[in-house]
Amino acid sequence: MKILLVFDFDNTIINDNSDTSIIQCAPGKKLPSELKDSYKKGFWTEFMGRVFKYLGEEGVREDEMRRTVTSMPLTPGMVELLTFIRKKKDTFDCIIISDSNSVFINWVLEASEFHDVFDKVFTNPAAFDSNGYLTVQNHHAHSCSKCPKNLCKNVVLVEFVDQQLQQGVNYTRIVYIGDGGNDVCPVTSLKKDDVAMARKGYTLQKTVTRMSQNLEPIASSVVIWSSGIEIISHLQFLIKE
Ligand SMILES: [Mg+2]
Ligand SMILES: [Zn+2]
Repeated sequence: MKILLVFDFDNTIINDNSDTSIIQCAPGKKLPSELKDSYKKGFWTEFMGRVFKYLGEEGVREDEMRRTVTSMPLTPGMVELLTFIRKKKDTFDCIIISDSNSVFINWVLEASEFHDVFDKVFTNPAAFDSNGYLTVQNHHAHSCSKCPKNLCKNVVLVEFVDQQLQQGVNYTRIVYIGDGGNDVCPVTSLKKDDVAMARKGYTLQKTVTRMSQNLEPIASSVVIWSSGIEIISHLQFLIKE
């Protein structure tokens, strides 16, 4: 019986947001205001598609983007946490569900040499086209009214757990590690034995704190973390139970 670890990427594995950091590659390190103002709530992937097209037209090439993305630091304690998980792959399955994109996540996992820790990465598929411009697509279509059009992390998680069950893999519990507003939907769908690990001071933690103050029940236990080292301590506690 295994535990499923679910990781968010931006501000969870890396201590930054990959989509906003890529703007460092733009001329003057900022976007023209009409492009910046073209973002519509719930349509982030389309917006990033326009940002990547702009960067391409401005002559920003793949190697420069790769340098920018791989220079973002990992979150404190993340190297220790992922090294700990690697040694315990008979106990933990480990996936990423992220609203970043496949190219950025691959670059970071390659550069940090942690590809092998993750069994699967669910994110918006991206690729460089024949012009050398990065293009990105929605991860999927879904009908969750709480999530952006391109990705409901809860739908992804439920589908993954179902698929694994069909393969004979039944998780004793899910531990969800994240920080952001798009982690709220999956976290509030966790069950009694599951653990929501919310990064201290970020949107997910503020939301679950507000929910408990409003007496809105969350079925799972909630652990607040600042460093991957604290996550290791909690995982050690879980596997001793
Ligand atoms: Mg995040
Ligand atoms: Zn959702």
